[in-house]
Amino acid sequence: MQTLKVLITVKTYPIPSAKYDELVCTAGVTESGDFIRLYPIRFRDLPYSQQYKKYQWVEVLAKKHKGRDVRKESFRPQEDSLKILGEPLGTQRGWAERARFALAKRAASMEALYDQQKADGTSLGVIRPKRILDIEVSADDAEWKPQFLEALRQQRLWDDRKATREPPRKVPWKFHYRFECDDPRCNGTHRMMIEDWELGALYWRCIDNGDSPTIAAAKVKDKFLGTMCAADRDTHLFVGTVLEHGTWVVIGVFWPPRDDSSAGSAPLFESSGS
Ligand SMILES: [Zn+2]
Repeated sequence: MQTLKVLITVKTYPIPSAKYDELVCTAGVTESGDFIRLYPIRFRDLPYSQQYKKYQWVEVLAKKHKGRDVRKESFRPQEDSLKILGEPLGTQRGWAERARFALAKRAASMEALYDQQKADGTSLGVIRPKRILDIEVSADDAEWKPQFLEALRQQRLWDDRKATREPPRKVPWKFHYRFECDDPRCNGTHRMMIEDWELGALYWRCIDNGDSPTIAAAKVKDKFLGTMCAADRDTHLFVGTVLEHGTWVVIGVFWPPRDDSSAGSAPLFESSGS
């Protein structure tokens, strides 16, 4: 067991899980910019005082995983030890305080990350794409797989505390970033699923405000492409591998203003689900 001090940079959308009730992948960086994955965390079950936001420092007791999750950055946190240290880092001076830690160990490209993955099992990183080409939106199942839901029901029979709570809502769309890296080896065909919590949270806010599923999906695309990847943004992608397959997905977006002189003038989106 060791004490980790982590700046949270990423939270993924929760998925039901047989073993852990529901899973959120939380990732962040240490003070030296090294990546850490805290997993599993049953985020929605944490007391409010422990429900950290992005760009908040937390301190937590954790140990290395044995067995299933051997990804080198993964630690198993002791949830009741989690302490929030202060307010989230702000967006002043072009997100400088966030960038100091979040981008300290930035990789040159996905190709560089694939090399690191082969060399030492790297499974988290942050890159600055040369060009973001599009977000592909495609229809997906409206419900979680039956085995997920059955596992969840079985588990809740034993746990009154959560018996009345609904499972996380399943977003009936898939969103993939298509982009090109700044690397001579890049063939410009990266297509990576977006698993950012904020994406799901935004989708359901639109639905709850009366939008149709198609309109809500269009608004999500507009936000994650039109706003976060606009010409005046210095967009970076947080990426990580999925445990089961080792494939890379986008787990968060870092999108400070490109021009430092405009810092503070643009209203930045702050999601209540972040
Ligand atoms: Zn590439």
